[in-house]
Amino acid sequence: MDYKGLSVAQFIMMSKEGDIDVSDFYGKLNVELRALQKKYNYFVTLVENTDVSVDKGTKLAGLPVSAKDCICTKGVQSTGGSRILEGYVPPFDATVIARAKKEGGVLVGKTVQDEFGFGTFSTNSAYGIPKNPHDASRSCGGSSGGAGGLTAALEMPHVAFGQSTGGSISCPSSFCGVVGLTPTYGRVSRYGLIDYANSLDKIGTIGKCVDDVRLLYDVASGYDPLDQTSIKDDDKRDGKFDMKGLKFGIPKEYFPSDMDASVRKVVLDAIDKMEALGAKVSECSLPHTKYSIPAYYIIAMAEASTNLAKYSGMRYGMEGNPMGAHFDEYFSDIRGKYLGDEVKRRIILGTYTRMAGYRDQYYLKAMKVRRLIIDDYKKAFKDFDALLSPTMPFVAPKFTEIEKLSPLECYNADILTGAPNLAGIPMLSLPCGTSKGMPVGLHVLSDHLREDVVLNVGREFEKAQ
Ligand code: GLN
Repeated sequence: MDYKGLSVAQFIMMSKEGDIDVSDFYGKLNVELRALQKKYNYFVTLVENTDVSVDKGTKLAGLPVSAKDCICTKGVQSTGGSRILEGYVPPFDATVIARAKKEGGVLVGKTVQDEFGFGTFSTNSAYGIPKNPHDASRSCGGSSGGAGGLTAALEMPHVAFGQSTGGSISCPSSFCGVVGLTPTYGRVSRYGLIDYANSLDKIGTIGKCVDDVRLLYDVASGYDPLDQTSIKDDDKRDGKFDMKGLKFGIPKEYFPSDMDASVRKVVLDAIDKMEALGAKVSECSLPHTKYSIPAYYIIAMAEASTNLAKYSGMRYGMEGNPMGAHFDEYFSDIRGKYLGDEVKRRIILGTYTRMAGYRDQYYLKAMKVRRLIIDDYKKAFKDFDALLSPTMPFVAPKFTEIEKLSPLECYNADILTGAPNLAGIPMLSLPCGTSKGMPVGLHVLSDHLREDVVLNVGREFEKAQ
């Protein structure tokens, strides 16, 4: 049997009926994944499963699941994309992995990412750069680039766990033409996630369609006492849904004047389709949007620089020989050797914004701006069920174009994803058309804990394509 083109839903149904020869399936999947790895570099670690047994009573019933490399997996190397954690094999599973396995998910690999999640194009990966399957001279997006590329390229059933701090699920989903769900902060446990910035990090799901991301999200989400920021409210609010009468806001700040004109057109056409499905669409304003990038990067880097202090060559990650050298020299030596340039930049900038004398000026000010950004959304969600915008202001850029970007220009690419991540609201990126032959993403945002809204809107939109 050829499993190419088999959907996740079909796979699960057939698997439960006993109509899938699991060893044949995984044999063919291994060949497929090896080929993709060679061509596009989606994995830090590929897990070849040979002896899979399926529990037909589970929700995933033997479904292949990949995880971004920053998600700890028992017995499988988990580096967070950094050389400093090369060879680290966790003795435990992150909660999301444990939950997926319990429901019959099978881990097929750890996907490539920007080092510790620091990036928008996956070009800051220490384990090779993943290539976009629609055009290998272009980026998959970041930082969950391996997850986005793999989901788009693999023609066999599979779903992916990604992670977002400032847009790392939405961006690769948009660039690779797949669906990405970033849940409300705290909805999905972060236990076992290698931290980037704790007040922002979220684990979410990437799949070929809305039902796929919803399925893995349903399995992984819910209160977890092992994560102190886990939300106790497990109500999915998934009642009756009707597009007719829903109110969508179009934030005028989310269509910046310098955005790609053809991306704008594709997204405006998609919004027209939403209107045709019965939703009421009107313009709105999120006035503090222009401050979102500086606020996001100050907060993210401040938290990251404290998190990264633990990789000192003593207890976590790579070690050397501390004897004979001064401790400072030893620490610098290890960190200098095993951390990438972008990581060093963020440690320096993050430390600076937290220093006595600068803390008020940068870090505390950024925290106040964050509050204003959250208030912008809270106000908007009094009037609207969801907000619609492009996910990214342009399609996946070529690597030759990315090379020319300054760090600041790279940071500015997050202009549409930074603010919703600062607010911790749920977001869904949906493929909505193409520009220059590359996929364009439509971003659907809703209020805290309203994953049901973004998923239901996404499904209706998908059905109407
Ligand atoms: N591009 C953003 C950054 O570099 C977001 C990355 C992420 O969400 N992990 O911080």
